[in-house]
Amino acid sequence: MIKDLFFQKQTLSFEVFPPKKDDEFTNAQNVLHQLSELQPDFISVTYGAGGSRSKRTVELASFIQNSLHIPAVAHMTCVGSSKEDILTVTDDMKQAGLSHVLALRGDRPTWMDDAQFENRAFAHASDLTRFLKEHTDLEVAGACYPEKHFEAESLDSDITYLKEKQEAGAAFFITQLFFENDSFYRFLEKKNHAGITLPVCAGIMPITSAKQLGTTVTLSGSSVPKELADIIATYGENPEDMRKAGIDYAIRQILDLKQHGADGIHIYSMNKPKTTRTIVEAIR
Ligand code: FAD
Repeated sequence: MIKDLFFQKQTLSFEVFPPKKDDEFTNAQNVLHQLSELQPDFISVTYGAGGSRSKRTVELASFIQNSLHIPAVAHMTCVGSSKEDILTVTDDMKQAGLSHVLALRGDRPTWMDDAQFENRAFAHASDLTRFLKEHTDLEVAGACYPEKHFEAESLDSDITYLKEKQEAGAAFFITQLFFENDSFYRFLEKKNHAGITLPVCAGIMPITSAKQLGTTVTLSGSSVPKELADIIATYGENPEDMRKAGIDYAIRQILDLKQHGADGIHIYSMNKPKTTRTIVEAIR
């Protein structure tokens, strides 16, 4: 199981997303073949918002696990799902031979009105974690946020709720992407102080264009340090130099995290094997 790896090594893992259309599956498999050459400890596969395309998540995770022989973590959100919906997905996972899931609440889908949101079957990711531990044999991971989740009142309250995921049976955590290592180190101190002992994989996304940074910051709420803002200001108009500088920034971030003894490095690969390879070759 993945949780055992943290006792042996600093892990290296990747996140990929499933294809949006069925006819893009071969392309996704091709991306994964290239990523598998980098010998990650595991690969996680995202889940469409609100549970859409869950079958493709399971299908791609199954390909990673059964054809590439790399442990796969299937993401799963619960905000718009009933308990039966979740058990349908876990049945699919079992049939596909999967053993690991990243249990998430997910963002409120646009189709949910206030009443539906208030009465959802799973209020929080910790409820999904508990449910999965009670009803399946899956190893469950959870998400955490070095700069706090956007709805949380404070980092302290977010960490209080993070501890509920540990108590519900989570095995390890993966962070939201961040660009400033100091905020990650502050988060580690606080979560240690709160008695959270599970391993934490640091989520790093290489920024290879100015446009990507804008979208990423909107979606993640991560803050942009001056050094990264300066890179965008200097190279933003020049795609090739921007790509190099963005990859270099991610490499420096990861080397510093490794030096500080991070439990694991999780690269948000954005299904880009070339970029991921450049980073992995520089950090190994
Ligand atoms: P929770 O842990 O439930 O937290 C959500 C909010 O509720 C936080 O503010 C927290 O402080 C608060 N809270 C938690 N418990 C309680 C409680 N008991 N009482 C009161 N408040 C509480 N989204 C997707 O749609 N698909 C994906 O594949 C996906 N992958 C992700 C991978 C990672 C590594 C991360 C970090 C995020 C991912 N997301 C994904 C985004 C995620 O779904 C959103 O950030 C979502 O808004 C929160 O999910 P969560 O599991 O962190 O929720």
